[in-house]
Amino acid sequence: MSIEHKREENACAKCKKLNTEVGPITHYTDPHDGYEGLLCSECIKRREKPYTEICPKCKKLAYKHGGMSFYGESPENFEDMCVECVMKKEEKESKRKARKLRIKNFVKDHWNVWLIATIGILSLIIALLSLIIAQSKP
Ligand SMILES: [Zn+2]
Ligand SMILES: [Zn+2]
Repeated sequence: MSIEHKREENACAKCKKLNTEVGPITHYTDPHDGYEGLLCSECIKRREKPYTEICPKCKKLAYKHGGMSFYGESPENFEDMCVECVMKKEEKESKRKARKLRIKNFVKDHWNVWLIATIGILSLIIALLSLIIAQSKP
């Protein structure tokens, strides 16, 4: 056995680190995509991570529901969840936005109605006030 071959046996196929650095290297077969190779425990963990991640929102295995993703408009308020939850949230959000837009448009489209109503109420108050003032005069 050449030294070169021995090195290979003791090194992780992924990160190329030796077992003296990263601990025991094991022959690993990925049950999900059939990958086979000599991997260190760190690389195995990294490979399995996407399959063991649980969606914090629906508490299901994320990879079975499109994988892990996130939802949010800026990195500060990104919310981790599976793709399915993102889609559900987006659908809900778009409905909410559409409803908001409808209300906004309603106000915009009927601004003259609101204006007339406001003027009407104001003139009513003025009329009432002048009536009260007129009555309080001796
Ligand atoms: Zn490795
Ligand atoms: Zn989910």
